[in-house]
Amino acid sequence: MVEDSSKPCIFCEIVAGCSPARVLLENETCISFLDIAPASRGHALIIPKNHYRDIYDIDPNILAESMKMTKEVAELLEQKLNPEGSTLFQMNRIVG
Ligand SMILES: [Zn+2]
Repeated sequence: MVEDSSKPCIFCEIVAGCSPARVLLENETCISFLDIAPASRGHALIIPKNHYRDIYDIDPNILAESMKMTKEVAELLEQKLNPEGSTLFQMNRIVG
């Protein structure tokens, strides 16, 4: 699938503060917020603040920063929700 750059990116809108989000954590590089259609309790997204198309496009250092925040979010949710377990996904282009 070719990315349609004429459509606004919802994640960039959240980063810009133009779309609402329940933010969990934020730093200079990344932001984490709750999914608007959660698949499970505590369903959170962690994204870089700069737009990258997918894992093939992202700078490895920014990817590392997003994984650092992923651990922080996992620990936050572990503490707040005490889940039986957790799952991590990293999606690229069309995901079925
Ligand atoms: Zn974007």
